[in-house]
Formats: sequence, C-alpha cells, structure tokens
Amino acid sequence: MREDLRDGSTRLREPTRAWVTQCALSRICGLCEGGLGRPIAFVGTPQESDRNEFHQPPMHVACAERVRTPDQVVVTTAGFDVVRPDREDPDRAPRFAPNSRL
Ligand SMILES: [Zn+2]
Repeated sequence: MREDLRDGSTRLREPTRAWVTQCALSRICGLCEGGLGRPIAFVGTPQESDRNEFHQPPMHVACAERVRTPDQVVVTTAGFDVVRPDREDPDRAPRFAPNSRL
C-alpha cells in the first residue's frame, strides 16, 4: 500500500498482517495494487535477502525499484511462498519466500 508524500515521492506503508495477506492471496502489487505477472519483485535488506524471507509484499519490478532505499536490495523471482510463523518463531510477522529467484 502506498503513501504519497508531500515532496511528490512515494513510499511503502508499514505492512500490516491483513494487507500482506491480501497481497498474497490476491497476487496484487504491494505498491500500486495492480495484478502481478512475472517476474515478481521483493524489496528488503541484505539480511532479508540472505535469509530469503521478505516482510514487504510482492511488487512489480518497476514499483520495487521506485520504493527501494539505497540500503535495500531488489530480488526478482517467478514465484513465492507465504511463511506463516508458528508460536515458536521469534519473528511473528508473515513473510514471503521467493522460491525461484531469477
Ligand atoms: Zn506495482
């Protein structure tokens, strides 16, 4: 979900569980809310990339490039799995795991 700032730039809203779930089920872009084709892009920190789990919902490549900050990476994939943390998981936020990186 996007937030248009006064200076004309755009940023992602903090992902809520409901929003993240909606993006996953409907396969819509986390920024512009349009339908997702392939490739699918994820924006995250290098740590998220290393772990192959992203907290921000899937996006179009162009949308991902638009909202990434200088310290974030963009990863593209043909598909993804939704990670639903169980009670033992220290990170309780839903995540996305790219399953066929390009
Ligand atoms: Zn988009």
